Amino acid sequence: MLDRENYYPRLTVDMPKLRDNLHEVLRQCDDAGIEVAGVVKGCSGIPEVSLAFEEMGCRWIASSRIEQLKAAKDAGVKVPLMLIRVPMISEAEDVVSITDVSLNSDVDVLKALSEAALKKHVQHKVILMADIGDLREGFWGEDELCDAAELVAHELRGLELEGIGTNVGCYGAIMATREKLQELVDITAKVEKRIGRKLNYISGGATSSFMRVMDGTIPGRINQLRMGEGILLARDWQTLYGLDMDYMHMDVFTLEAEVIEVRTKPSYPVGEIGFAAFGEKGKYTDRGMRKRALLGIGKADYAYPDKIFPREEGIEVLGASSDHTILDIEDCERDIKVGDTVKFDVCYGSLVMASNSANVKVIVEDD
Ligand SMILES: *Cc1c(COP(=O)(O)O)cnc(C)c1O
Repeated sequence: MLDRENYYPRLTVDMPKLRDNLHEVLRQCDDAGIEVAGVVKGCSGIPEVSLAFEEMGCRWIASSRIEQLKAAKDAGVKVPLMLIRVPMISEAEDVVSITDVSLNSDVDVLKALSEAALKKHVQHKVILMADIGDLREGFWGEDELCDAAELVAHELRGLELEGIGTNVGCYGAIMATREKLQELVDITAKVEKRIGRKLNYISGGATSSFMRVMDGTIPGRINQLRMGEGILLARDWQTLYGLDMDYMHMDVFTLEAEVIEVRTKPSYPVGEIGFAAFGEKGKYTDRGMRKRALLGIGKADYAYPDKIFPREEGIEVLGASSDHTILDIEDCERDIKVGDTVKFDVCYGSLVMASNSANVKVIVEDD
């Protein structure tokens, strides 16, 4: 990215608002006896975000990407680092050197981690994942899980079995109901019986499990949640589940792009309609001549034109190609001109992409 003060597009993080969200989530979890792993992958591990998570009281900084955890460490994060995607065998040595704890679901990976830990003279903590129906990572069935737990507890000397965890609401869209979470607690009890000791943590999921904290139905033994979206954006509880979340900030992040053309044009393409930039069949409504603005940002930066939301009334995202976004500004009060900028709210998917784009400048705003 070129180093220029006025660089666009940009993604701004409002740190005071982020700290407010952290404070609220951590307070409610603390009241429920739950420790929080702050998950920073949603914003591609912006180091200042990791530092704020730590400063406000997250007990771990967590990410699916080891590079983001290394960036947190390099930025001075002192709390333990948690790798929440099952490690690749090829990264085992980096996992035990850079991180303190990882989520796991495969015996061969566990063996590789143990070997790497012994070689580096460190102890690596592991949380074994139980798949309770979402069908992404996790041991399937309690026998498989108990066998793996026994192997870690009694044979893999480089590892320390820290707890049992689960993940829901990622692939199978399974809801974190009290019953599902109780299932995790019951499975953990079976593991504990098999290995002959209590485990330190039951890791009850992500942002979606926090709804059971809010309604007070989270099973008592769950004492760890791994939270990202609910702190960074706090949108899903309201937009997907209809909860009233007015006490959280949903605008911690702002995506801002510059206008490169303003023109009144027909709203219906002129000519024979084939396919658009990404091979999609074009769909257009003829609304006559409309005033439109073109932005210097595109799908390459945020992936989903229907998942960025103009902050201003009267602006509508019509579509995008890799590097352009087309807005309808006919009904906008502001007289938008070339060189002006337009601001957007983002959702989880567009935040992941924008923070990870080599062409979007991240700006951290603090008081
Ligand atoms: C992404 C992820 C999380 C955090 O999810 P949010 O919905 O952002 O809170 C937690 N655990 C695992 C295993 C994940 O992959």
